[in-house]
Amino acid sequence: MTQTPARVAIVTGAARGIGAATALRLAADGFAVAVIDLDEAATAATVGAIEAAGGRALGVGADVGDPEQVQAAVDRIAAELGPPVVLVNNAGVTRDNLLFKMTDADWDLVMHVHLRGSFLMTRACQRYMVDAKWGRVVNLSSTSALGNRGQANYATAKAGLQGFTKTLALELGKFGVTANAIAPGFIQTEMTKATAERLGRDWDEYVAERAAAIPVARGGVPEDIAHTVSFFVSEGAGFVSGQVVYVAGGPRT
Ligand code: NAP
Repeated sequence: MTQTPARVAIVTGAARGIGAATALRLAADGFAVAVIDLDEAATAATVGAIEAAGGRALGVGADVGDPEQVQAAVDRIAAELGPPVVLVNNAGVTRDNLLFKMTDADWDLVMHVHLRGSFLMTRACQRYMVDAKWGRVVNLSSTSALGNRGQANYATAKAGLQGFTKTLALELGKFGVTANAIAPGFIQTEMTKATAERLGRDWDEYVAERAAAIPVARGGVPEDIAHTVSFFVSEGAGFVSGQVVYVAGGPRT
């Protein structure tokens, strides 16, 4: 009996954190997964973990904000793994500062990775989804989209991704493509460890303090977000599009 080849999913910023957990989860769900990060060597751990669990993965180095690198990455993924029909725009950076101290470079880098990166990746992948008459785009927003002190750049980008998501849903729906966004609250990753460090806080104390303000009384873990991605990408979620789900252990933390 011939087997249908696995559908191909791309997860950006998947060397670690939420992206790595999402890549592993989608591989466990049966997708062949392209693991994109800035440095190809950094993707080895995620790729190795997927392969060790019996899945199929390809590590690709690319800056998602660079059009040539994005095109080369997507072309390579299509040639080596197959046409990408699932895209998780997860790559992210923070450059936090109060507005009066925020530099032009801090503003531009955050827009480059989150907004330009998600735009370029989605534009490069959409034709494969349209051809297949099936596709899933999941964008990583944040509770910071509602406003967060010290994050004028990041909050703007994460709110922008919600508008991007809703527009994709409108434009691509008739081709069987859904687009949704996940807005995580506090998730324990290198990104939030860097925040604790910048604030001069002990990590364990910082986690305990954040957890105390969260209704479900714990910090989030990358698998909490991967689970939500898995839902949006699933076959049964084909009537769910243009939505933003806050995955924050409560309504707004
Ligand atoms: P993370 O641990 O910092 O991982 C982000 C990954 O993205 C890193 O491997 C990073 O590579 C990569 N990356 C950065 N710039 C890139 C670029 N231009 N091209 C390709 N890859 C790039 O972050 P995380 O906490 O897992 O966050 C993942 C996503 O969730 C982000 O979009 C973030 O904004 C969002 N989010 C996180 C939280 C949270 O509490 N952690 C909350 C809300 C939303 P390098 O290591 O080389 O920089």
